[in-house]
Amino acid sequence: MSHVMNTYNRLPVAFERGEGVWLWDVDGRQYLDALAGIAVNGLGHAHPRLVQAIAQQAGQLIHTSNIYRVLHQEELADALCALAGMDQAFFCNSGAEANEAAIKLARLYGHQRGIDTPTIVVMEKAWHGRTIATLSATGSRKAQAGFEPLLAGFVRVPYNDMAAVKAVAEHNRNIVAVLLEPIQGEGGINVADVEYQRSLQQLCRERDWLYMVDEVQTGIGRTGYWFATQHAQIVPDVMVLAKGLGSGVPIGACLAAGPARDVFKPGNHGTTFGGGPLVCAAALATLSIMQDEKLLENAQHQGQRLHAGFTEALAGVAGVMAIRGQGLMMGIELARPCGELVKQALEKGLLINVTADTVVRLLPPLILNDGEADQIVMRLAPLIKTFLSTAP
Ligand SMILES: *Cc1c(COP(=O)(O)O)cnc(C)c1O
Repeated sequence: MSHVMNTYNRLPVAFERGEGVWLWDVDGRQYLDALAGIAVNGLGHAHPRLVQAIAQQAGQLIHTSNIYRVLHQEELADALCALAGMDQAFFCNSGAEANEAAIKLARLYGHQRGIDTPTIVVMEKAWHGRTIATLSATGSRKAQAGFEPLLAGFVRVPYNDMAAVKAVAEHNRNIVAVLLEPIQGEGGINVADVEYQRSLQQLCRERDWLYMVDEVQTGIGRTGYWFATQHAQIVPDVMVLAKGLGSGVPIGACLAAGPARDVFKPGNHGTTFGGGPLVCAAALATLSIMQDEKLLENAQHQGQRLHAGFTEALAGVAGVMAIRGQGLMMGIELARPCGELVKQALEKGLLINVTADTVVRLLPPLILNDGEADQIVMRLAPLIKTFLSTAP
């Protein structure tokens, strides 16, 4: 019996090393990684410049405390705010924690404006994490079941439905913020319309609500922009980051601007580990490598290549409902639950994921090249075809 607590349905494979988009398991088998640790390893595996930056920083200083100034943290806050057009950054250790910061910020903002029961508008099929507050904000009954009582202070509306938000605005006087994923990742690669995002931000302005975006999965170049919200030319009031930010070291960030700026004062929020020298050095290296290697352009280019490749390879195949996404965040929705494809792909040396039961999800490293993109299509498309041609 394993002493690891049984919280994951793990695939029967263990990896020993990686290089670029490739991984090798303990038996020496090679895999093309089209998942990147769920949008984490944007630079692929063992990127020499990242390894060097982490090793160098580990030899110099790993941790001090937020009791002191942390210069790497200040530098990273400057860099992220410049890229995002935001004003301030709070650093923590995960996506859930970064959303916790956003939720607390919105509540405090509400209290500062005399709203005693501040309420945040969240979306159906949303994913914001597994802590009690972020689980309550998440729109998955499956994830929530058994952990009631959930936290009050959220009201849920359908995604991409402006009328639903307006209806809530009419009768609920306690709303202080909206929390939106520009593309829902866990929810099935559902893309928010640009017009919807703009109208939502406009409504937030009119009502003095904070417009908060969860870019934990979409941020840091994943969609071909630094942040997916930039597709809609929007600068939000709060932006939540994590997954790709540290290329594998645990770091999350909650950025604030405009009305969300200066809401937190000393003593309102904090963390022991958050924003330490080691993780900030990794994040700074990530940002500069992405710039030097033009990985935003590459994410756009390879995203188009994958999209074109699958569109051609799956043309006319009954049961392929949609191929959607942006940049290197892609979903192929099938007509029926397709979880078994994950294991079939693994056997063919390809790492993928299935989310929302019916959506094959691809989140390859942003360093993917043309040949590797074509490999993903060549390995996966035949599996999908065979799967759809056999009766359930
Ligand atoms: C993964 C994810 C989270 C949770 O991040 P953790 O690091 O697992 O806590 C939150 N929001 C979105 C959009 C995510 O994709």
